[in-house]
Amino acid sequence: MMEFGYVCTQCGNTYTIDPQVMVCPSCAKHQPTDQPLVGILEVAFSGTVDKNFDVHDLLPVERQYFPPIPVGNTPLWRPSNLRRETGFNNLFIKDDGANPTSSFKDRASFLVSAFAGKFGIRDIVLASTGNAGSSMAGVGAAAGQRVTLFLPEAAPAAKLVQALQYGATVHRVRGNYDLAYDLSMTFSVKKGGMNRNTAYNPMTIEGKKTVSLELYQQLKGTPDYIFVATGDGCILAGVYKGFRDLKRLGLIDRIPVVYSVQAETSDALYRAFHTGTFENIPTRTIADSICVDVPRNGFHALEQLKKYGGCVITVSDQMILDAQVRLSRSTGLFTEPAGAAAFAGFLKVRSELPTDAIIVLLATGNGLKDSASAEKGITVPETTITDIETIL
Ligand SMILES: *Cc1c(COP(=O)(O)O)cnc(C)c1O
Repeated sequence: MMEFGYVCTQCGNTYTIDPQVMVCPSCAKHQPTDQPLVGILEVAFSGTVDKNFDVHDLLPVERQYFPPIPVGNTPLWRPSNLRRETGFNNLFIKDDGANPTSSFKDRASFLVSAFAGKFGIRDIVLASTGNAGSSMAGVGAAAGQRVTLFLPEAAPAAKLVQALQYGATVHRVRGNYDLAYDLSMTFSVKKGGMNRNTAYNPMTIEGKKTVSLELYQQLKGTPDYIFVATGDGCILAGVYKGFRDLKRLGLIDRIPVVYSVQAETSDALYRAFHTGTFENIPTRTIADSICVDVPRNGFHALEQLKKYGGCVITVSDQMILDAQVRLSRSTGLFTEPAGAAAFAGFLKVRSELPTDAIIVLLATGNGLKDSASAEKGITVPETTITDIETIL
């Protein structure tokens, strides 16, 4: 039997898992403005499983509360052309664009939905740059939950359309993600329901840990390096959490080296890694999913990176666009710019890595989610053809 509870990542206080408690009440009293969240709660457990565990055994909500939608168990690609071209024979790509709403965010939405369902909560509220919103809308639709989404104006059209298709109530914010986030927090305080904001709801990081549990099962062990694009730092924290759980269970003996990849023009975590402080300066990047001024999980993500020998690197928008095309052409995997950022990061630092290392690139979202950005990396022919003779 597994037992679960919360532990504060800052003060170590423990709490019972309850939808009324989202961040550590005593740390949150000292939340500074324009800074990452303090008092992030992490799920802790006692109990054991053997190496043939089911991922559900390690989640803090019972299986019967999960909605009927097949999240996770995404394919691990063995890209042989890319392996040959780069000389890395143990390069893998975890294709999280294969999730039901086509992004990694489904891992978090799935657990949040089950958590809300367990406590009879039908309304879920969130802010999102696009993927978390369309994900929650889709998973919520499967669960019969009502989703209210605050979406910044820069969100790609496909993500907006997706959320509306799934029946979410969408409030389009004239402003950026940070404004949408603040509005959604006020909304859920006033209107109730469960807030799914990333990092704030502990089930977001906890749900994201499932990627590491799957990697362990698919690789029958631990990778050496993982490349992950970072905005708020929740996927990063989820990746660490999964491997830490496995280590606690005695199933693995080391935590992989995580490369967090940020856009050069949205690099708050990178700067904080070197300076120790988070500044709130406006950012922009073609990779909308990692365009974040103040990473919500910044403090916790930074602490994990330092503790486990991780690195933060940056790539330019041009490197992201080039990496996106290269990945598409070499592997057949078309990933959105944020997903391509992880690959761009690998290309940037690969000369420092041993060529026999087991390396996983997280492809976090499907390329069709943002075809406008993808168009920037290719040449779209004019519509001029009327007969076959011109071509022949
Ligand atoms: C959200 C997202 C990320 C970044 O995750 P964070 O938890 O914000 O760091 C990366 N790629 C895609 C496609 C995403 O949707």
